[in-house]
Amino acid sequence: MHQPVTAKSDAYGASLLGRLDELAVFSEVEGQLTRRYLSPAHLAANRQVAAWMQAAGLRVWTDPLFSVFGRYEGRRPNAPAIMLGSHLDTVLDAGRYDGALGVLAAIAVVAELSRRGERLEHAVEVAAFGEEEGSRFPTHILTSSALIGAVGRDLLEGRDRDGITVSAALAAAGGNAEAHLDCGRRPGEIAAYLELHIEQGPVLEARGLAMAAVTGINGSQRLAVTVSGTAGHAGTVPMVQRRDALTAASEMVLALERLAHSEATLVATVGQIAALPGAQNVIPGKVAFTIDMRSPCDDVLARAAKALALELEQIAARRGVHLEAATYQTNAATPLSPVVITAVLEAIAACGHTPLSLPSGAGHDAGIMARHCPAGMIFLRCKDGISHNPAEAITAEDADAGVRALLEATRRLDGRLAGNQTP
Ligand SMILES: [Zn+2]
Repeated sequence: MHQPVTAKSDAYGASLLGRLDELAVFSEVEGQLTRRYLSPAHLAANRQVAAWMQAAGLRVWTDPLFSVFGRYEGRRPNAPAIMLGSHLDTVLDAGRYDGALGVLAAIAVVAELSRRGERLEHAVEVAAFGEEEGSRFPTHILTSSALIGAVGRDLLEGRDRDGITVSAALAAAGGNAEAHLDCGRRPGEIAAYLELHIEQGPVLEARGLAMAAVTGINGSQRLAVTVSGTAGHAGTVPMVQRRDALTAASEMVLALERLAHSEATLVATVGQIAALPGAQNVIPGKVAFTIDMRSPCDDVLARAAKALALELEQIAARRGVHLEAATYQTNAATPLSPVVITAVLEAIAACGHTPLSLPSGAGHDAGIMARHCPAGMIFLRCKDGISHNPAEAITAEDADAGVRALLEATRRLDGRLAGNQTP
């Protein structure tokens, strides 16, 4: 069921995959890809990407939160920009396509425009964001949020596992958290945002299709939960007298799983848990864990959050432990822009592929940008739907199709937005 391909079908794809391999070398951990926000590996990846942007004919700069931007002017100077981009930070032990694909494909698109001497009505900006994943600090989609002025003091004081705040990490890297408002863009400055990203799910592969237009981004809610009981001797405290924080937390984790099963569109995950003091012969006195809930429907999320709070309190009361549950981030479900979706669907068809529309179960920078300008995404098929895993893979053929569709969608978007502009 694969699309027919021409002899030159991997012309962009092979070089794109080569660059993705080169970028994957920038890692904090040898032998795997871990590139957390503001780590030396992330800053080095930023410099490499800036160099590639420059070579593609872009004017390059870095903003106070270390997003890297490159600008390719349109026919008129200072025209509003169509922004193409994604993120360069990764999860721990990541694949090499999540995020980086969208940034490097965007550079390939501008390199092609530049090679042809083709100027659009709009400028084209390439964005390489950071801390989209939230794998270092308790805040995801951080640096794109700064573009729309949605970064507050509290987010910048979030701490990583070593107790380092975002502000301190920025200062250590030579940046300045105080200047986060300077990252903000004026209304109209960005005419539209478009992001190519691997699907991170199995739908495209199952349908035998290379690409889809994304219709919207699921809402999400993240909580930090701390359960406090009493630490004690693993040999001397009778079972009935224990206030074991870990067994209480375990019951809470399973309650969350049951809750997620009770709603058709809800998914929920405890991805991080720490038991203290963390000794083999000590009853855990304190447990901290995270909760990540997502749904395309805000009502479902709100209902689940209410039910969850009640259930956690009941478990804590029954087990005699103290509970603190704080919601530290809520992102509403975000529909993407019809004008961008239409341009993407047309572009996919124009590239000889069957267009499909899909919602996104994962959060993306596009979900933030959609609050500022018409925004859209193209999903690209990935092997077995696997992501956040070193086994992430795409074919050169699909990578080529992705660049072509991104280029074509940018042109179509340029035409549609220019046509809609009042003189
Ligand atoms: Zn991503």
